[in-house]
Amino acid sequence: MAQHFLLSKAARTLNLTKVARMSDDEAWSTFKAIRWAATDGEAFCPRCGCLKHSFIATRKLFKCAGCRHQYSVTSGTIFASRKLPIRDHLLAIAIFANGAKGHSALQLSRDLDCQYRTAFVMAHKLREAVAAEAADVTLAGNVEVDGAYFGGHVRPENMKADRRDRRFAENQTGKRRVVVVIRETKGKAVAFAFRSEAESVPTIVERVAPGSVVHADEAKGWDRLHASFQTRRINHQEGYSADGACMIGPHEVVRG
Ligand SMILES: [Zn+2]
Repeated sequence: MAQHFLLSKAARTLNLTKVARMSDDEAWSTFKAIRWAATDGEAFCPRCGCLKHSFIATRKLFKCAGCRHQYSVTSGTIFASRKLPIRDHLLAIAIFANGAKGHSALQLSRDLDCQYRTAFVMAHKLREAVAAEAADVTLAGNVEVDGAYFGGHVRPENMKADRRDRRFAENQTGKRRVVVVIRETKGKAVAFAFRSEAESVPTIVERVAPGSVVHADEAKGWDRLHASFQTRRINHQEGYSADGACMIGPHEVVRG
């Protein structure tokens, strides 16, 4: 399977400042080049795969010569709902593809100046889309693991003291999930959803080559990593809140 376009060189080399200055037409062309990177930017029908099409310039729509399906540059991608302008999709891709830890939903919402919930959904979709097509990827070298919780409700004022209890209780309800991103420093990334960080460890062991150095925060779930890897722990600040969401280190929590 071809590499997901979000992980392509074209996506990784997107420059934030350049994107921010793009006209609508430039943003559209750039998105097209990235989305169809596998065919050198040539559009093809997301329904039947046909490369032949006519183009309705006024509406920026392609019409498939094979099945007559009309599709846009975002059709069939996670950006298809188009709640944001294409330039913002590109910004999201640039932030996501370039950021070591810089693509948290909170950061995304600040950078895109959009609502936290919109950014959260987008960040989650980005990770999910990449994860879905990353089935055979192995990572090596310096590897960071990071968990982002979602689906729970935590009152910020109680978060610090109750952290472990709440996590335990909410895990018991079965509603919370943690999206764990496994990322080579400045390299490939894969993401999976689990019920807890500890539950993700076997997948990490499977995906990360022996001899790699794994970087993780101090969450207890990561302790098991020490059995398989040289593991370095990062000390994050205890917690803060903003935009109705709160974070403990890299663990994002939204009101559910
Ligand atoms: Zn078609």
